Amino acid sequence: MSSKGLIRTALERARACVPLNSHPRFFQTPELPSQAFRSMGTLATITLGSDCADRIEPVTQHVRAIFDRLEREMSAYRSDSAISEIARMAGVAPVKVPADTYQVLSLGQRFGSLSVGVFNITAAPLASLWGFNGAAVPNTLPSDQSIGKLLKLVDHRGLVLHDGTAFLSLKGMSVDVGGIAKGYAIDRAYDYCLSAGIRDFLIDFSGNVRVAGRPSRREDWQIGVRDPFDRSSIIGKIALPSGMAVSTSGSYERFVDILGQRYSHIIDPRTGYPVTETASVTVLCNDAVTADALSTAFFVAGLKGSREILKKFTPSVDLLLVPDRFPTELWLTPGFGNVLTSNNAGQSFPLSDQR
Ligand code: ADP
Ligand code: MG
Repeated sequence: MSSKGLIRTALERARACVPLNSHPRFFQTPELPSQAFRSMGTLATITLGSDCADRIEPVTQHVRAIFDRLEREMSAYRSDSAISEIARMAGVAPVKVPADTYQVLSLGQRFGSLSVGVFNITAAPLASLWGFNGAAVPNTLPSDQSIGKLLKLVDHRGLVLHDGTAFLSLKGMSVDVGGIAKGYAIDRAYDYCLSAGIRDFLIDFSGNVRVAGRPSRREDWQIGVRDPFDRSSIIGKIALPSGMAVSTSGSYERFVDILGQRYSHIIDPRTGYPVTETASVTVLCNDAVTADALSTAFFVAGLKGSREILKKFTPSVDLLLVPDRFPTELWLTPGFGNVLTSNNAGQSFPLSDQR
């Protein structure tokens, strides 16, 4: 069946649903217990099945403590974080890092290799050059010379991980785990919730979601995928089976304006420029850290490069990619087509590792 055929229209499967919060990605029945809080500079929401309504408060507090602890370790904005210490000691000496930070850096390197370098946690100096990570936004485009100089500092193999320590081999290098840390945090919160005996829950951390169980006996959790060209509407809804995770990377999320042109916060580490050809990528798979890293990786790889990366993850990873062009095109793997109820926001095309 063509992927177009796999997409059922909203009318066919219409049901009453309301947006949970300002993020219209996620839909639920309004009576479910839910709490939101801020961590890692963004919004997190925990929703439990109705059986566990009385546990929403302590569960949210516990998840929040997990997220805040990981933020303290891994924020590039905090001078006392392990990530900042690694940058300060670049080219000088290895730094002993907490176990979770070590694990995130190892995963970052692994996804860097598997994505042939398009996912690159050492792209941080370039992000700063373009005005991200708290740096001042430049008035003019960075020069080829300044980009070329920083490209020499971008190489995930220059991060040496050994026996609980992390070392950046060249002075001036730095790491940024912003493309993977929220997914990792969700997986830790997911493990905690299961160990605490919570069966039905949804964790939403700024476009990264993982679910367990179901909100009601009749159906799976429903996630809305935001339309990258119209923030107030969605491309469609995904019915997410228990245990699965979904992550969206979008150019509309964070960007800088230089000379009237928007530049997204995701950097192509091969060129040193922000990615311009992708509007959004949504990845569906078995765990949140993979979904988070790969949504960023496919965003950089774009339509052309994504098939190559997809080969390494088929069939465990499904993907919806919207190129940054008009009219709207939805490129999706067959497995994604199976779970998406489209709003007919654009024409759909099959995406596979075959071509
Ligand atoms: P968000 O965190 O905004 O929801 P992503 O998960 O796609 O979106 O991550 C984007 C973040 O990843 C950027 O803000 C930056 O911290 C980091 N990043 C930027 N470019 C890359 C890249 N090529 N590889 C890995 N991480 C990147
Ligand atoms: Mg990501």
